[in-house]
Parts: sequence; C-alpha cells; structure tokens
Amino acid sequence: VNLVEIKGVYKCYHKKAKPKEYAVYKVNLNIKKGEILGLVGESGCGKSSLAKMILKLEQPTKGKILFNEQDITDYSFSQMRKIRNRMQMVFQDSTNAFNPYYTVEQIISEPLNNYSNESEKEKEKKIVSMLEKVGLNKTYLTRYSHEMSGGQRQRIGIARALILHPEFVVCDEAVSSIDYALKKQILNLLTDLKQQFGLTYLFISHDIAAVNKICDRVVVMYLGNIVEVISNINENVQHPYTKALLAATLFPDPKKRRKNTVLFREGEEIKVPEKGCVFQNRCFYAQNICKTKQPDLMTQKDGHEVACHLYHHC
Ligand code: SF4
Ligand code: MG
Repeated sequence: VNLVEIKGVYKCYHKKAKPKEYAVYKVNLNIKKGEILGLVGESGCGKSSLAKMILKLEQPTKGKILFNEQDITDYSFSQMRKIRNRMQMVFQDSTNAFNPYYTVEQIISEPLNNYSNESEKEKEKKIVSMLEKVGLNKTYLTRYSHEMSGGQRQRIGIARALILHPEFVVCDEAVSSIDYALKKQILNLLTDLKQQFGLTYLFISHDIAAVNKICDRVVVMYLGNIVEVISNINENVQHPYTKALLAATLFPDPKKRRKNTVLFREGEEIKVPEKGCVFQNRCFYAQNICKTKQPDLMTQKDGHEVACHLYHHC
C-alpha cells in the first residue's frame, strides 16, 4: 500500500525556463506505508523541492501528489489543515528552527495548540511522555534551546514532529550536523519510533552511510531527475552518478574528495544540458545517444530502477 504517490511531477521556479531547467523533472515515485525511503543527491538536486511539494509547502508546476489515496495537489488551505497533522518534518539544525525565547514545553506544545483543545494538564502529560520516548525527561520542560546540546535539540525536534502522532515524517538532513556517536543514537531513535508509532519516513540526506543504515530503499536524484532507485547504495549501484557518490564516501577526506571530478565542487554552477542525459557532461561512459536521448527510468527484475542508456539493452 502506498502512503504517498508522486505522479509525473515537475517543479519550475521561473516561468520561461527551458524544458530541462526544472528543479524537479518528471518524477514518478511511490512511498510505501511503513517504509523508510532514502533520498540522496548533492545540494540543488531537487530533494528539498520534492519534499516541500509532498508536504504541500510548494505547488508542483505539473503532475499530481496523492496522500493516502487522496489527490491533494489542489487542496485548499482549509482542506490541507485537516490532514496537515498527518505529515510532519524534522529539520537539520534545530538550533535555528526553534524560537530562542521558547522553553521546551512551549516548543513542543506549539503543534498541540494548533490542533487540539486539551487542557494544559493533559498537554503537559502528553509532552512529558513524548520527552521520555525520545530519551529525555520532564526536567527539560523549562529549558531553552541554547541550554541544550545539539543531540538534545535534535531529540526535541523529533518530539515536536511526533507529538501529533503523524503517519508520515520527512527527515531533512536530520543527522547531518551531528557527530558520529550521536548520529548512531539518533538513527536508532528514529527507527525505534518508526516501529512504535507505525511511521513512514522520507529520509533526505547526503550522508550515504546514514541512509544505508536505516533506509529500505534509496532514491538518487541528479539535477531534478531520479537517476536510480535501489535497496542500498552498495556495489550493485549501476548509474555512473551513483557510482561517483559511492566512491566519494570511500574518500571522506575533503582534500581527496576534491579530486573526484564527477561530483560538484563548492560554488560551481552546473549547466543543464538542453537534451539527452542530464549527467552527460560529467559521465565517463557517455556515448552519442546520451547527447540526444534522455534515458527513461527503467525497472529491472528485482525492482532496481536505473535511468542510463548503458543498461537499457538488457
Ligand atoms: Fe552516462 Fe549516458 Fe548513462 Fe547518462 S545515459 S549516465 S551520459 S552513460
Ligand atoms: Mg536541501
């Protein structure tokens, strides 16, 4: 059963864009109930735009988004309000996401105030129980965000996202700004909570190790296009771009990483090719056909999907 269905979705931020200058291009994707779907790719690849469209924080230029089999693409603000509490988001750095003048209790009760009219006592009980679920306790109620560590703030962000018992949670770089030991804890927490609450996650990250650790499937995007969908970013990846991403994780040293010419370098601007494969300018395997024909995303026997001419004859 699919919780989210993305059907032929395009997003374009400027009106006169050429066909290929889309932030999100022709994306078809389903998110199954109960799965953790990873979304990887470098900044600017369309990950965040896609997530915002699913949450209806942005409107697709073309295409449809279904949530629980309802077409929400043209939902009005008030229609959306009824299901808004079913979808939540955990952000990268909760430091800036929180009002510095709010206590933890105020931070977590914000969504409750918007969606329920329980008494203060009931709310506090709920908040304390949620704090315990994320590994904290009621002594945190009166703390301010600057009085906590990065890991504690991340737990507060998770508590706030889950307080309304959503079905679907987008984790946008949720473990990207924390160190290794802490990252492991937060990833374990996210998987535990997923089991407990029967959640479905869209886990956006450029951290391949984190994605491999918790995701059931991983979607790879490059310049707005899905180029590969696979169970894990491992030696079975086929798309030349995914191979480059994987190779980069084997050289975590940024100095060595810079030698990986396939990937973006800081400040570099990438021109979207007018036709053909979006990755042609950086691909070591590009052939003539890659300059003229865009490869479709094709599904192989095991559900592995790849958009590359190299694999289309088999
Ligand atoms: Fe490279 Fe061609 Fe495959 Fe694109 S379609 S990734 S250019 S081989
Ligand atoms: Mg982003």
